[in-house]
Amino acid sequence: MADYEVPELKEYPVVPLPVEGTMEHLSPFVAKPEFQEALNYVGKKIEKEGEMPEYVLVDGWHDKAIEKMGDLLGRYRGFQVFMDSCVKCGACTDKCHYFIGTKDPKNMPVARQDLLRSVYRRYFTFAGKFFPKLVGARDLTEDVVQEWYSYFHQCSECRRCSVFCPYGIDTAEVTMAAREIMAHIGKGQKYNNEIIGKVFTIGNNLGLPEKALANVLEGLEEDVEYDIEVPVKFPLDKKGADILLVTPSADFFAEPHIDGLIGYAKVFHATNTSWTLSSRASEAANFGLFIGSYENMQRISMRIRTAALELGVKRIVYGECGHAWRVGYSFLNTLAGPFDFLDQNYPVPQHICEFTLDKLQKGELNIDKSRNDDKTVTFHDSCNVARASGMGNYPGGQFDIPRAVINAVCNNYVDMEPGTTHDATFCCGGGGGLLTDDLMELRVKGILPRASALNNAVNENGVTHMAAICAICKSQFTKVLPYYGFTMDQIVSVHQLVSEAIILEGQVDPED
Ligand code: SF4
Ligand code: SF4
Repeated sequence: MADYEVPELKEYPVVPLPVEGTMEHLSPFVAKPEFQEALNYVGKKIEKEGEMPEYVLVDGWHDKAIEKMGDLLGRYRGFQVFMDSCVKCGACTDKCHYFIGTKDPKNMPVARQDLLRSVYRRYFTFAGKFFPKLVGARDLTEDVVQEWYSYFHQCSECRRCSVFCPYGIDTAEVTMAAREIMAHIGKGQKYNNEIIGKVFTIGNNLGLPEKALANVLEGLEEDVEYDIEVPVKFPLDKKGADILLVTPSADFFAEPHIDGLIGYAKVFHATNTSWTLSSRASEAANFGLFIGSYENMQRISMRIRTAALELGVKRIVYGECGHAWRVGYSFLNTLAGPFDFLDQNYPVPQHICEFTLDKLQKGELNIDKSRNDDKTVTFHDSCNVARASGMGNYPGGQFDIPRAVINAVCNNYVDMEPGTTHDATFCCGGGGGLLTDDLMELRVKGILPRASALNNAVNENGVTHMAAICAICKSQFTKVLPYYGFTMDQIVSVHQLVSEAIILEGQVDPED
């Protein structure tokens, strides 16, 4: 199945012995100059007769990179603190799923940070300028940039290491800074930058035009009505609707995402809620976060504000997308606010799980939990929800609320083992802009700790399905867990479980 070794599932925790250089061969495709330009970066192409063009660093790249690093150090106080405060205690070394899965010591969080820190020291500290060897400072060379490109695309910005660091050093922020510096000198990542370009030109990550989206939604209405004989609607660009739902575009076509979208629509239908999707903001995802670009993150976020204003909605609700929720929960107001034109009686924005739980608790949904009795479900806490956002109006809501929704619609639920859930959850292995086939080896190896914990839950508790509220997690799991013997249909959306259990007025079940 793969031309590299797929790690063996073992009982968690297993910390490997480091093996130098196991992943130095792997780096993602570089963005073409035209995709760089769409994001206000630059790029340089060298044509060679009879060969593929090469995308190289721009003229004057060295000074531009150092200047950019200085700019980021001045703009982001945390980045400066993270560069100065590591005491090499080693607490983070065994906490990264990519180190556990690949054994490459440069995938230890502290080592990853040092790839950048060593250059920072050389150009921004007294000791590094005058006694570089004494303090482990090094010059920025093309080889160093290549090493950055490789290993800063082997970090999913999951923040697990920061939970265990006594100083709270967040490697994700270091990775974002490194990616921003590289994009600035012509070495942006193809996957992320192309996707952001599609959001700007078409409105979503998939490049799904408005007409195609309208057709998909119309088809969904027909399918659901055919299945249960209830005319559940999937409105698009409905002016004056109460709620604008922004959701990852994977919800429009991929399994199991689309079953989640059907779940949201059934909840809205059952509660007589007026809602709409938007063709302008037909994407919740915000890959500007992954490349560390405040400007691009802001540009992407502004589509949501504009759509909300144009449609005259009163509330914004986010569908199941981990990093989109992080941007929405933590930054939306700063990036695209103020949202004083929305109804202030509700959170701005609100997560679909909060919305559904509220309706469940008020008894507004007719639920038959036994309809999920063919499953024993566990829940994967997605990194960006667990460690970089909240939910509800109390600390820890992001852990309780999705579980409360699942427990309200399923009789059989178990958590995976402690140390692999909540704020210690393991990344799916494909987050942070790494969900691309050119990084498949990394994705297969990086999923190891999560797959091990799931396997233990299967063996010890009879778990049959794992639910998630992140589009990237669902895509990564359905594609990569089969390497470890799981099947794609073992991954479910949380609102897919809701959809199974809910009974709408007038519903006729296929088996009836
Ligand atoms: S943020 Fe996550 S992927 Fe990156 S170094 Fe830390 S644990 Fe590893
Ligand atoms: S846990 Fe924090 S202080 Fe300790 S080595 Fe890792 S980054 Fe440095």
